[in-house]
Amino acid sequence: MSHSVKAVSTVRDLRHVTADWRSAGKTIALVPTMGALHSGHVSLVRQAKDRADKVVVSIFVNPTQFAPHEDLARYPRDEAGDHAKLTAAEADLVWSPSVEEMYPASFSTGIKAGSAAADLEGAFRPHHFDGVATVCAKLFNQVTPDVAIFGEKDYQQLAVLRQLVDDLNMPLKLIAAPTVRETDGLALSSRNAYLSEKERAIAPALYATITDAAEKIAIGTPFSVVTTDATARLVKAGFTKVDYIDIRDASTLSASVSPGKPLRILAAAWLGKTRLIDNVAAGSPS
Ligand code: AMP
Repeated sequence: MSHSVKAVSTVRDLRHVTADWRSAGKTIALVPTMGALHSGHVSLVRQAKDRADKVVVSIFVNPTQFAPHEDLARYPRDEAGDHAKLTAAEADLVWSPSVEEMYPASFSTGIKAGSAAADLEGAFRPHHFDGVATVCAKLFNQVTPDVAIFGEKDYQQLAVLRQLVDDLNMPLKLIAAPTVRETDGLALSSRNAYLSEKERAIAPALYATITDAAEKIAIGTPFSVVTTDATARLVKAGFTKVDYIDIRDASTLSASVSPGKPLRILAAAWLGKTRLIDNVAAGSPS
């Protein structure tokens, strides 16, 4: 392949590239990632290309969104594979700062994520969304994108970032991209690489269970019955722990839902040492 996507790793080099683009009147889309890229990430790059002249993909495994007991040290990394995928996807620039570039020793400012971070993932990963909001605010200021693309796979993250952008009047538009799945329904995730063969065989039960829950909601089954049955089904399938299965207002993520408004079912469950999350749309019973 003759084309190879350009990569920069300092804010200074990044700004040179974006300044050239801006002076040529180009618009910019940002796709933030933590690398170990898969087809879900590539689908975001495709959406980005449809929405702007230039596409920047950031690759940064952000330490501040991991708790000390979480998987930061073993988070999958694949620099060469990522580069090849982004070259094939015709991204324009890879922004891959070091931890020291992103958080110099003098760094001391942080963003406290808003109310959308209060529960669900926030209850199990208390400082996670503060880390996500802070690094995304930095990425937005570094890249100055017109649009940023995020996956619905991390549905609550999207809600938190929408609040961030609205509350702080950030001059960019957030775009939500649908979840890309394996043929058996498992949502693509860099963390799927942790699954043993046996766990991988059980994993699609998460999507099957929440899809079935959405159908039960549509025929008017009480929410408490839906979530109790879904939890039991996951345990029976072999999930070792269910952190939550919850039915929420699709836009506010509030637990108090109004008739006729779109809903979202969100779930997090463990297979051994691996925590999987997923979510699907559900309609209110009419
Ligand atoms: P990550 O590298 O896991 O931080 O994800 C980077 C971006 O890719 C986030 O906006 C995710 O929501 C999105 N993403 C992750 N998995 C998928 C998927 N299976 N389909 C679509 N987008 C995804």
